[in-house]
Amino acid sequence: MKKQPFVTKTQLEEIVKKYPTPFHLYDEKGIRKNIKALKEAFSWNPGFKEYFAVKAAPNPFLIQILREYGCGCDCSSYTELMLSDAVEAKGEDIMFSSNDTPKEEYQYAEKLGAVINLDDITHIDFLEKAIGYIPQTISCRYNPGGLFKVSNDIMDNPGDAKYGMTTEQLFDAFRILKEKGAKEFGIHSFLASNTVTNEYYPMLAKILFETAVRLHKETGVHIKFINLSGGIGIPYRPDQEPNDIRVIGDGVRRVYEETLVPAGMKDVAIYTELGRFMTGPYGCLVTKAIHEKHTHKEYIGVDACAVNLMRPAMYGAYHHITVMGKENLPCDHKYDIAGALCENNDKFAIDRMLPRIDKGDLLVIHDTGAHGYAMGYNYNGKLKSAEILLREDGSTQLIRRAETPADYFATFDCFEIGKKLIQ
Ligand SMILES: *Cc1c(COP(=O)(O)O)cnc(C)c1O
Repeated sequence: MKKQPFVTKTQLEEIVKKYPTPFHLYDEKGIRKNIKALKEAFSWNPGFKEYFAVKAAPNPFLIQILREYGCGCDCSSYTELMLSDAVEAKGEDIMFSSNDTPKEEYQYAEKLGAVINLDDITHIDFLEKAIGYIPQTISCRYNPGGLFKVSNDIMDNPGDAKYGMTTEQLFDAFRILKEKGAKEFGIHSFLASNTVTNEYYPMLAKILFETAVRLHKETGVHIKFINLSGGIGIPYRPDQEPNDIRVIGDGVRRVYEETLVPAGMKDVAIYTELGRFMTGPYGCLVTKAIHEKHTHKEYIGVDACAVNLMRPAMYGAYHHITVMGKENLPCDHKYDIAGALCENNDKFAIDRMLPRIDKGDLLVIHDTGAHGYAMGYNYNGKLKSAEILLREDGSTQLIRRAETPADYFATFDCFEIGKKLIQ
């Protein structure tokens, strides 16, 4: 499928007059349309709730849009909890799905009334010591181990993942938690990331629903929810077929009716903790070509770098690039698109066939709306960019300003030399 930016060249030329490149731009219309489609796909389940994975796009303005549709927040750190609190997500609107959790974070999650999802059986005691009791509603993260396959393709390797409890531990944990007074139980599992297939959720649902039936029968607990977590992916590449959320919702429904309903468990709520699927395609990194270099290869130097988007450097991830205004020209130039870091992996694309790029051209790097800005860092003293929301009416709203040197040096503020750096 041809990948097209959600913004036109004319619109972008207006936006860059006001906000200098690079910046991340978000598409409000796309975000709203997608959350509506997700809710519709799971409307057969009365308790359905999406807990947006805050780490994917930790910006209160973006989260507030999702909150309008009843989304909660999935958090796994202290500051993510703070952010949820700031957007008035409290109590059962927060899912605290952390691992290797510090005591202070359990205490803060408890203070906010969050639903706590335990990553390990030893965290039962740890939590009880940290907050003084076991909450009435509690969830456990399950890791069945082995390889996770969809139609013979290995999708991921849960047996090698640090998260979750084994089957035996999960059963023990439910018995212990019940003894300690827990009343409502949840199960959570995240077995494969960025799946671009409609089969992942239904397959995961089958594993979790069958486990839930056994847990209910063998331990007598009431299963309140099953959390399918994240993992629904997006087509980063033009040749990938996007997921169809309606097909996914129907697939989960079929497994629900085959597994949970006959076991008398038709009150189980389905939860999701999607991040990438919620905002990924609805963000892009806008950058300008500032140099061209002809050496052993052809390079285009842009004003963004891996600090703004780490996925290509970190995972070799593909992000599609559109050279604005040249969409219909032949892709007859082979370029490395590089940033300025003193790191040779600071490249947004390697050997990418693109139309001829001239200095001053605006490049849109697609699908940066999740795990994009959020993963950024400050290597080489590079500053993080602004985030801008493209509103439904075509206007723009600054939703995070760009960092300044004072932000970068802020942690020297308690030192004499800091005064010189921060002014
Ligand atoms: C990262 C994460 C998610 C979201 O994953 P996506 O791939 O963005 O959908 C959900 N739940 C947990 C516990 C996570 O760590």
